[in-house]
Order: sequence, then structure tokens, then C-alpha cells
Amino acid sequence: MAIPLRLPRQIPVQQLLRRPLLALAESDQVEGLMRRNGFSKGLVARFVAGEDLETALGQVRALADQGMTSTLDQLGENVASEEEARQAVGSYTAILDRIAEANLEPNISVKLTMLGLDLGDPVAMANLAPILERAEAVGGFVRVDMEGSTYTERTMAIVEAMHDRFPGRVGTVIQSYLRRAEADVERMIARNARVRLVKGAYAEPATVAFQDRREVDANYARLMTRLLDAGTYPAIATHDPALIAQARDHAARQGIASDRWEFQMLYGVRRDEQVALTKAGYRMRIYVPFGTEWYPYFTRRIAERPANALFVARQLVSG
Ligand SMILES: Cc1cc2nc3c(=O)[nH]c(=O)nc-3n(C[C@H](O)[C@H](O)[C@H](O)COP(=O)(O)OP(=O)(O)OC[C@H]3O[C@@H](n4cnc5c(N)ncnc54)[C@H](O)[C@@H]3O)c2cc1C
Repeated sequence: MAIPLRLPRQIPVQQLLRRPLLALAESDQVEGLMRRNGFSKGLVARFVAGEDLETALGQVRALADQGMTSTLDQLGENVASEEEARQAVGSYTAILDRIAEANLEPNISVKLTMLGLDLGDPVAMANLAPILERAEAVGGFVRVDMEGSTYTERTMAIVEAMHDRFPGRVGTVIQSYLRRAEADVERMIARNARVRLVKGAYAEPATVAFQDRREVDANYARLMTRLLDAGTYPAIATHDPALIAQARDHAARQGIASDRWEFQMLYGVRRDEQVALTKAGYRMRIYVPFGTEWYPYFTRRIAERPANALFVARQLVSG
């Protein structure tokens, strides 16, 4: 007797695919397959601005010509040795210098696991400090990306300590899928530290994160309003048309000037909307990732949209 396959109807396909796809971000075999398979180049190029800094800077300049700012991210995460972390510090300080030299705004995004967080908080702090010193020297800003929930509290504490030392030069990211997000938003508001608000890109358990997209979105809307009202230059980082419309409405109703906050979107995602919002007079910053370590980042982007995932699966199967 055939057992009928019963999928819970209220779960959209995106939610069903997300967890298995995110698990692929940690698979060395699939990474090897993707790297060997020439097809992936085109799709990777949609989300990654290039393998080297100069190519990425060309994209930053093209965005600037269209009235948009950027935050540059050298791809990479979870280094296992102090030597690798030191190398990352060297390349981030060089990136800040190079952006300033190119007369572009020195704004970068970093991941603490790339600065040695797995080796201990003191290692990550000692590595973040020289990057912030350089940011101060060139009038720049460093955004500490938020990673999986096992790092959230440590990241928050490091950013708070560093914001006390380098006020206004460092900010972080709060993920609305986390149950703790509201308390974290209040911590950052109390310190006048800049927040980028996102939904969250990792597979998290129900103990720490909302599993239902409607709850994630409702929390986003609540925190977005709070940040627009009371935050320090918040970044509303989403491609979600409903949330974008709510941000615009709220700012207009409350008379919040467009230079007191900004929208942020990812390189290659909803490009038309990036241009349209810029033309409508909103500030728009694009997250521009580059480098050879694109695989985990790329997988997270694929997991966000079933159409991307189906395209990749078809190409892998057809070889
Ligand atoms: C500037 C920026 C920085 C970020 N930094 C972090 C971070 O530090 N930590 C973290 O956990 N997450 C980060 N994220 C990712 C974020 O958490 C979400 O995973 C991602 O933005 C998708 O959520 P969404 O708000 O766009 O809404 P969704 O509901 O996922 O998407 C809304 C619509 O946007 C479009 N869209 C979204 N993603 C894609 C895609 N990949 N390809 C094609 N279309 C797409 C689709 O049309 C979709 O229907 C960042 C996102 C941005 C924009």
C-alpha cells in the first residue's frame, strides 16, 4: 500500500529546502564538485564581485556612479590558526587603505571567526583593534557581521567593548529570527552603536530562533520601527518588498530624514530595486563580497531562494 506523502501545507518550499541547503555550506565534497564544475562560475559571479580586490573595487566604483555606497567583505570564515587570523588583519587594513586611496568610502564588513574567534575572545579582540585603528585613521567604518547563534553573545560583547574604545567606528548586525534580538537592539541603542538589521541566514534551533517566517518578519518590522525611531544610523538590510514599504511609510510618517538611516542589500540581489530606491532618494548600501573563499557565502544565498537552488541542482545533475 502506498503511503501518501503528506507535506504540511502551510510550510512554503523555501522553508523546507533551507535547512538541507544550509547543511551543504559545510560539505567539502559538494564544495569540491562546485569548484570543479565550470557552470558555477556564472552563478557565483552573480553574488560575488570578483576573486581579487581590484575587480571588486571596479564594482564598488560602478555602484558609486549609480549613487550607491558599498561595504566590502573579503570572503572567509572560521580560521583555525593565529597565523591565518593575522593574515586576515593584514588584508583588512590593506583593503581600508586601498579603498581610501581610490577615493571611495572606506567601509568594510568582517567576520570575527575570520579574526580568530574560535581561538578565544582575546585573540579576536586583539585582531579587531588594529583594523579599527586603521578605520579611524582613514575615516572609515567596520561592520562586524553576525554569524551562527553560538557566537552571538561573544560578538555582542566584543563589539560593545570595541565601540567604547573606537566610538562610531564599529557596529554590528542583529538577526530578527533570534528570540534575543529585541534585547540586543536595546543594548546597541543604549550605546549609540550602529545596527544592521537582518532576518538571519543560518540554520538555528527553535530554542533560540523563531521557525515560522511570519514570526521572523513580524519581529523584523517591530525592531525596524524601534531602530528608525531611536537607533544610531540604522541599516535596514532586507530585500523583502513588504518590509521595505513599511520602512518607507514609517520614516515618512514620523518625519525621519533619509540621511539618518540607510537601506542595505546584497550584491546581485534585486538590482532593479537597488536602483529604484536610490532614484527615489533613499540611501542604499550594497554588501559587496569578494575573494576565493566564496563557497559558504554562496550556499547561504542559494538557500534563500528555491529558484536558485533548483537551477544549481539541475546543473549538477546534468554535469
Ligand atoms: C546587507 C546585508 C548584510 C547581511 N549580513 C548578514 C549577517 O551579518 N548575518 C546574517 O545572518 N545574515 C546577514 N544577511 C542575510 C540576511 O540574514 C537574509 O538571509 C537575507 O537578506 C534574505 O532575507 P531578506 O530580508 O532579503 O528576506 P527574504 O524573505 O529571504 O527575501 C525577500 C525577497 O528578496 C529576494 N531575495 C532574497 N534573497 C535572495 C537571493 N539570495 N537570491 C535572489 N533573490 C533573493 C526574493 O525576491 C525574496 O522573495 C545580510 C543581508 C544583507 C542584505
